Amino acid sequence: MARAVFFDRDGTLIKDVHYLKDAADIKIIDGVAEALNEIKKAGFLMFMHTNQSGIARGYYDWGDVHSCNRRMLELYNLSPDFWDGICIAPESPDADEVGYRKPSQKYELEMTKKYNLDPSLCWMVGDKWIDVETGLKSKMNAALVRSGKEINSEIENLASIEKIPICDDILSFYNSCILKI
Ligand SMILES: [Mg+2]
Repeated sequence: MARAVFFDRDGTLIKDVHYLKDAADIKIIDGVAEALNEIKKAGFLMFMHTNQSGIARGYYDWGDVHSCNRRMLELYNLSPDFWDGICIAPESPDADEVGYRKPSQKYELEMTKKYNLDPSLCWMVGDKWIDVETGLKSKMNAALVRSGKEINSEIENLASIEKIPICDDILSFYNSCILKI
């Protein structure tokens, strides 16, 4: 069975910019490119799952998100087909129907089926607790990174109860977590 890592985007792969619309505003995080290359080389399928309620709210459109995703890969010197899959969840948090917006695990379950993933060998990593919830609901491992939204003591407590590692950033996640399962 295959294994995979699902990455959040904002605050995890790039710095968190409030409703990022313009690719010119992307700020990279040190070590991300190196970590992504190493994780892929280690044989993990690579997915990105990003909540973009700015689409539902009309702050930006799909084209803006695709442009930012492309630019991020360029800035990290990664090939345009680096990802095995990308999920952009456009829904607003108060949408009536459950879609792809995290903590919905709809995307993870679809990819698990499509690629015959073993969830116990997979990771979901992000800067918010909703990322962790998405991983846990998918029966995957989950980790938090401190490169985005502040991780307060309440989240630290939750992480400790659920045995969720908290890493400084994606490079630290690669060095300390990913091969330890
Ligand atoms: Mg995030």
